[in-house]
Amino acid sequence: MTTGYTKAVLALGSNLGERNDTLSEAVADLVDPPEVRLLAVSPVVQTKAVGGPAGQPDFLNMVMTVETTLSPAKLLQHCQSVENKHHRVREVRWGPRTLDVDIITYGDFTSDDPVLTLPHPRAAERAFVLYPWSLIEPAATLNGERISALAARAPDFDDLAPFDGFGDFDGVPTAGAVE
Ligand code: AMP
Repeated sequence: MTTGYTKAVLALGSNLGERNDTLSEAVADLVDPPEVRLLAVSPVVQTKAVGGPAGQPDFLNMVMTVETTLSPAKLLQHCQSVENKHHRVREVRWGPRTLDVDIITYGDFTSDDPVLTLPHPRAAERAFVLYPWSLIEPAATLNGERISALAARAPDFDDLAPFDGFGDFDGVPTAGAVE
C-alpha cells in the first residue's frame, strides 16, 4: 500500500434494473476520484434477497478493494453519492435497490457509530460479501477468522450461484450452441 493510503473493502449489490451494468458503472464511479484507487474486483455472484419483501429479484453482489486517502466518513459520503447517482430506491428497508454500497472494512479502523459501523456489523454472516471477498483476498480475516470459513458457515452460502452472465439471451443458449 502507498503511504497515506488506507485499504478499504467495499461490497456492492444490485437487484433492480440493469443490475450488471449498474455494478460496472459503480466500480468506475467509486474509483473515479484521485483519492480512491482500485486494487481488486471480485467476480459477480448471484444471490437470493435476504429478508425484506418476498418475490424480489435476485441480487448481483460483488466486492472490491481500494486504497484511499479519504477519511472513513468521507469514503461513506462518496459511496452514498455513487448510490444516489444510480437512483437508489430506498422506500422499503431491505427492499429492492438499484445499488447498495457498504464499507466492510477500512484498514484496522473500528467504530460502533451507527452512522458508520466498522467493520460492517453484518458482514461476518453474509456469504454474499464473504465469498466474493475471499476470491480476491483468500488470506483475509474478519473478527479473527478466515473469511472463507465464515462464508462456508453463513446461512445464505447455499443460495450463492455464479452470475450466469448473458449466456441465455432471449432464451437462446449461446454457450455450446454453435452448429
Ligand atoms: P443500508 O440501507 O443497509 O445500506 O444502510 C445504510 C445506512 O447504514 C446508512 O445510513 C449508513 O450511515 C449506515 N451504515 C453504518 N455502517 C455502515 C457501513 N459500514 N457501510 C455503509 N453504511 C453504513
